[in-house]
Amino acid sequence: MTTTFIKNEQLNFINKQINLIKDSRKRNVPAHILSAVCDLAQAKILELFPNLTTEQQQLLDVSGLQTDADFEVYLERLSAFIIPFSAITGQQLKKLFPKNKKLKVPDIATMDLHHLTYLSWDDVRSSKKIIVYELEGKLVGIECNLTPSSKKNICSFCNTVGNVSYFSTVTKAKRSNNPDYYKSIGNLICTDSNECNKKITDVTYLEAFLKESLDIK
Ligand SMILES: [Zn+2]
Repeated sequence: MTTTFIKNEQLNFINKQINLIKDSRKRNVPAHILSAVCDLAQAKILELFPNLTTEQQQLLDVSGLQTDADFEVYLERLSAFIIPFSAITGQQLKKLFPKNKKLKVPDIATMDLHHLTYLSWDDVRSSKKIIVYELEGKLVGIECNLTPSSKKNICSFCNTVGNVSYFSTVTKAKRSNNPDYYKSIGNLICTDSNECNKKITDVTYLEAFLKESLDIK
């Protein structure tokens, strides 16, 4: 039986490290430098997983990789161990947004959930973008107002340059002495969430953003 242990963003991170090694090989850097690049990449990859079994360690071992085909096989093998996004029904998705009765949800059954760190779709009717993520073992969702932009900029989630839109959301934070108080937070985020999911390597910002929006301490 295959035990999945790699999250989408971790596979993206590994991919990035593999590209660094490939790049050094292509540039024909001196052997000692290439070996340092490989060692560093290996250390960073292993750092992602504090409790590896011996087999998992072997699976992640980059030391024997030389040709483009080797790298491809390596990544292909890892993809069998990826943890898919939570199996969730459309009904369960709707329950995350009890105030938005007309919310349209995507057809989960037809989606590939393997390469998703977060699930997102646009609710065209209300010009909103919906983000669903498993935060500390529990699925949470937020609705963001969407202001499209045609400019390229750095996405707050995946930290790479691409086509971004401005998203703002009203946080659930309340102040007892002022019931009218509300705080809105905005971000530039990839317009295409599939692209973002292919590039995100770290969920620190995404989680902090969701916690702040939902007022989770
Ligand atoms: Zn992004």
